[in-house]
Amino acid sequence: MKEQTPEFLVSACLCGLPCRYDGKSKPVEDVRRLWEEGRALPFCPEQAGGLKIPREPSEIQNGDGADVLSGRAKVLSRSGEDVTEHYLKGARLALKACKKMGICKAVLKSKSPSCGCYTIHDGSFTDAMRPGMGVTAALLAKEGIRVCSEEDDYEG
Ligand code: SF4
Repeated sequence: MKEQTPEFLVSACLCGLPCRYDGKSKPVEDVRRLWEEGRALPFCPEQAGGLKIPREPSEIQNGDGADVLSGRAKVLSRSGEDVTEHYLKGARLALKACKKMGICKAVLKSKSPSCGCYTIHDGSFTDAMRPGMGVTAALLAKEGIRVCSEEDDYEG
């Protein structure tokens, strides 16, 4: 990897790093190239927040990431464990990394309860979706970081 200040914080799983709940990644070649060029800092908020790999899938219940930040909603694993604090910790650490490195753009994995920017799973563990951001995406956006998904034109 080249040594330079990254412009983007990116979801680590998009770079091919195996940090997803199922121990796999979701590599996207263009995002991975940003990392290889030294333009992106890979970050997994769930791992940074202390969750193991692999782990049970989790979904936000009765709300979205903004609701979790304001204390109106929780994140529960499929078996009902409250993992909200891990999600909040990961989001705060992502923000801290952006501030420390002067990063003001993030490319985040779609649909994730941490990283989703537009839609997230609706809490029913049925693959149904609802509008809203994940916890990290919501905190970064609230703090002025430009967030978008891997499906967007993030170079534009
Ligand atoms: Fe990827 Fe974000 Fe989920 Fe980590 S929390 S596995 S970076 S989508």
